[in-house]
Amino acid sequence: MADDPELIPGIHIYCDRWCGRCAYTSRCLQFRLEASERESSGALQNFDALNSQFWQEMGEALVQVMRFIRDIAASGGLEAGDLQRETLFSAPPATLQRDAREHPCAIAALHYAGMVNEWFAATDKLPDAEESLLTHPPLFLEESIQVIRHYHYFIYPKIVRAVEGRLGGEAASNRDLCDDASGTAKVALIAIDRSLAAWSLLYKEYPEQEDSTLSILLHLDRLRRSVEVVFPDARSFIRPGFDAPYS
Ligand code: SF4
Repeated sequence: MADDPELIPGIHIYCDRWCGRCAYTSRCLQFRLEASERESSGALQNFDALNSQFWQEMGEALVQVMRFIRDIAASGGLEAGDLQRETLFSAPPATLQRDAREHPCAIAALHYAGMVNEWFAATDKLPDAEESLLTHPPLFLEESIQVIRHYHYFIYPKIVRAVEGRLGGEAASNRDLCDDASGTAKVALIAIDRSLAAWSLLYKEYPEQEDSTLSILLHLDRLRRSVEVVFPDARSFIRPGFDAPYS
């Protein structure tokens, strides 16, 4: 199976492990090994096309939410340039902290996970709430909530791993380790982008939760820009298959 030229070597190393939403299942050895007994290759290609469309739609939602965040910032007296500068750091840190779990980005990611829990708990207590939104979401919000749930506890370990990788790479003057850390940071950034897009859809549906949803949007946006500061090469990192055509 591993000799199949259709497979993209190493594609699973920088993915988000959400095979149910991946557009490359038919080209991933990891997925094939796990699914070989229950899927046919033809079915996988159809599945991939659907997932590709799903992420394209989420990408469009992300463009809208970034505009929205800038509008909110402007209405609060913050100009776009100020927003760009407002990260968890006043400047790129000269050295990263020894313990990656204490890094400001890691702490912010953990804080995000707590904010999500609080938001869903508060929403479930709204007067017209009948069932838990997490376990019984309305059909039109199902996909957004899936996105939020999948990345809820995903962002923190990815950021910790990226910071650890960077520390190890710098200590050993190992360029490959530093590159790998950028790749991991890119996966975290993608998870943040997609979570932002999903939250923007919930924002419109729960006006009672407007303030806390807005806090989450602004917190994630700040985390996103902070990770970009710490890992300036992350966005341009080329992940096998996802970012580079492979034939
Ligand atoms: S690349 Fe896609 S199919 Fe393969 S392990 Fe990652 S998410 Fe799953």
